[in-house]
Amino acid sequence: MGNSKAFLTINRKEAGYRPIHERIADFSEVEQTLNTEDRILQASRCMECGVPFCHWACPLGNVVPEWQDLLFKGKWTEAYALLASTNNFPEFTGRVCPALCEKSCVLNLENQPLTIRENEVAITEHAFQEGYVKPRPPASRTGKTVAVVGSGPAGLAAADMLNRQGHSVTVYEKDESIGGLLRLGIPDFKLNKDIIDRRLAILEEEGIRFETGVEVGKAVSAAQLLAQFDAVCLAIGAGVPRDLPIEGRNLSGIHFALDFLKQQNRTVAGQTTPPAQQISAKGKKVLVIGGGDTGSDCVGTSIRQKATSVTQIEILPQPPEDTNPDTPWPQYPNILKTSSSHKEGCTRRWSLASKRFIGENGALTGVEVVEVEWTKDESGRFTMHETGKPEIIPADLVLLSMGFTSPVHEGLLDDLGVKYDARGNVEAVKANESSVKKVFVAGDVTLGASLVVRAIASGRKAAEIIKASLQV
Ligand SMILES: Cc1cc2nc3c(=O)[nH]c(=O)nc-3n(C[C@H](O)[C@H](O)[C@H](O)COP(=O)(O)OP(=O)(O)OC[C@H]3O[C@@H](n4cnc5c(N)ncnc54)[C@H](O)[C@@H]3O)c2cc1C
Repeated sequence: MGNSKAFLTINRKEAGYRPIHERIADFSEVEQTLNTEDRILQASRCMECGVPFCHWACPLGNVVPEWQDLLFKGKWTEAYALLASTNNFPEFTGRVCPALCEKSCVLNLENQPLTIRENEVAITEHAFQEGYVKPRPPASRTGKTVAVVGSGPAGLAAADMLNRQGHSVTVYEKDESIGGLLRLGIPDFKLNKDIIDRRLAILEEEGIRFETGVEVGKAVSAAQLLAQFDAVCLAIGAGVPRDLPIEGRNLSGIHFALDFLKQQNRTVAGQTTPPAQQISAKGKKVLVIGGGDTGSDCVGTSIRQKATSVTQIEILPQPPEDTNPDTPWPQYPNILKTSSSHKEGCTRRWSLASKRFIGENGALTGVEVVEVEWTKDESGRFTMHETGKPEIIPADLVLLSMGFTSPVHEGLLDDLGVKYDARGNVEAVKANESSVKKVFVAGDVTLGASLVVRAIASGRKAAEIIKASLQV
């Protein structure tokens, strides 16, 4: 431990965001970086706790205190090596992870947690800049073949680990580009897509084959896949968005969040959408239904597209601002999250249920909402009661951001005949194994819609299980 008193004398310092007036004019990343001296000072604040709760909270088991110490000592190469030993893609998590580790940091008891996520991305960017993130193809090949279906963080992590083991890996992706929700869901202002391309170039040089524009279950059948490969890893995500089937749902101007976000990501990538299919917030009163992260991404995107107003509503009550006795430290706290997008200017409201969409001549003009209250019954179950009078929120674009219910069953999954769990995800009958022989699972397809860090962890775990299955 470098500086045992730094946590007492140095405060948490975040790099912060670019100024609002500047960042809303483009889709570049909003987050700034600290200078090296400050970054090292931030790393020095780590107390190297005997029981590192940060490590416990990280789904990847990142050995956080150890790489803080290396960073503090200026041992950047070693810090990256240690970080990369548990995380295939620290450049992604360093940008988009909600940092479960920081919420569990002991210094968070004083609301001054270590800047673990920012330190992670600083170490990783330094590693790329200095050129020591290099392709390292396996020394020999095992002769075994594995198909990974889906190229999100789970599929990429599984492919990376399996390739390192010497297996020949082919990743199939139905979209035109690799990356899953990293590429087409998460906006560029949170994750610049060059960051994905930089990593993909390495994975390709290491020997992973990427097949884009191939929907497995259509272009390649499930039977073909099973016949051709020694193992199959399903990493197709949780692609079915939760709908809001209330009166007026068929009016024009109501879209799923992901359709809107995908289009914007494609526009930034230089693709064009035919005018009739364009979903634009320009000059519109936008209502985002759903108070989570996807909703927040819709807020930031609508603001950049020059919406006249943006409102985000949520059916659940507003969480407390600082601490929540229901989720005490070191748990991940259920407290109010205010993203960079929220700070760019939107109205946020809670405890509102949507009753019906209202329109004129087939086009949306507003949404009738009503205030609700949530009460707990004796069994601890929450029930919702309408309280206030109905109210109409004017809107000519609604973005449905209420999460995802399950993976798409039709096609590949039904053809394979995999078992589903009660929520409709592919059931892992044993760790990362589906009910079908030699078919494995990783990421949201089995976890349900989750986080990038969990998808990477799940992909790594699937690769371990596949490795063992290929050895018998
Ligand atoms: C808008 C949005 C923003 C988010 N922001 C964050 C964030 O900031 N931080 C965070 O941690 N998490 C975030 N998440 C969640 C995170 O992106 C997901 O949990 C994660 O990407 C899941 O990874 P995955 O690899 O399991 O699936 P996905 O990333 O969904 O990838 C699955 C891939 O499989 C492909 N596919 C599907 N079916 C087939 C088929 N039959 N054949 C071939 N390919 C197929 C899909 O096209 C897709 O590319 C966000 C999610 C959304 C929707």
